[in-house]
Amino acid sequence: MIVRCHGARGSIPVSGEEYLRYGGDTTCVEIRTKNDEIIIVDAGSGIRRLGIKLLAEKRFEYNIIFTHSHWDHILGFPFFRPIYSENTTINLMGCPETQGDIQKILSRAMSAPLFPIQFERLKAAFSYSGNCSHKFCIDSVEIHPIRLSHPNMGLGYKFVEDGRSFVFLTDNELGFRHSGGLAFEDYAKFVEGADLLVHDSEYSREQYEITRSWGHSTYLDALELAFAGRVKRFALCHHNQDRSDDEQDVIVQRCREAIKKRRADIECTAFTQTTELVV
Ligand SMILES: [Zn+2]
Ligand SMILES: [Zn+2]
Repeated sequence: MIVRCHGARGSIPVSGEEYLRYGGDTTCVEIRTKNDEIIIVDAGSGIRRLGIKLLAEKRFEYNIIFTHSHWDHILGFPFFRPIYSENTTINLMGCPETQGDIQKILSRAMSAPLFPIQFERLKAAFSYSGNCSHKFCIDSVEIHPIRLSHPNMGLGYKFVEDGRSFVFLTDNELGFRHSGGLAFEDYAKFVEGADLLVHDSEYSREQYEITRSWGHSTYLDALELAFAGRVKRFALCHHNQDRSDDEQDVIVQRCREAIKKRRADIECTAFTQTTELVV
């Protein structure tokens, strides 16, 4: 499968010359199966650019899976241009137990006086399915959900195709167990041997002294998970809103040094909003 990131920033979109390389858009990941089916994870502001690209490709059928419904993961949805085309068919997938019916939440976010065009006026055809605890398949990809440790809960996912696996755990706090969340050991088991682990790395240790229990991990805790799960490739994501490109470079460098010191065989990188990886 091909994994493309269209938004790696956490919590709020940012702009400015200090954010050009890692990008300012919030969470949106695109997966292409080996048969070129489209799976989109989250509708952060990065989905706006993805929509333009999909229309240029003349692709109109997608599955959108949501990790949870915090603003930064849904705010791009009203600006996803394909929803205004009657050629478009979208299968929305979420977890009603952790986030409610995602279609209702999107509809609420687009209701007056919050947004000028109501969900009911969209031209795309929508179907909705909720799944929380069981694996399901989209085309050739098997998808395993896991509960996140995050305020208001949410789901992480493991995508498996032909024995290759990509685990996406954003908005997951490894250092604090939120209601409905799991222990570090459970996440370590879930990511075991993954070909690619992408994990929330929002904070530094210093920031975390203030932000503990806000729902995000330090990059060092995320790296610890990569070690514990013996993953092959580890990518940081949900970058802090104040973290410049240069500061992000330093963090990646620190992770690489720690990997070298531990003599682990892990390739480490940070997601940018143009990252494309073959898993
Ligand atoms: Zn978030
Ligand atoms: Zn969140």
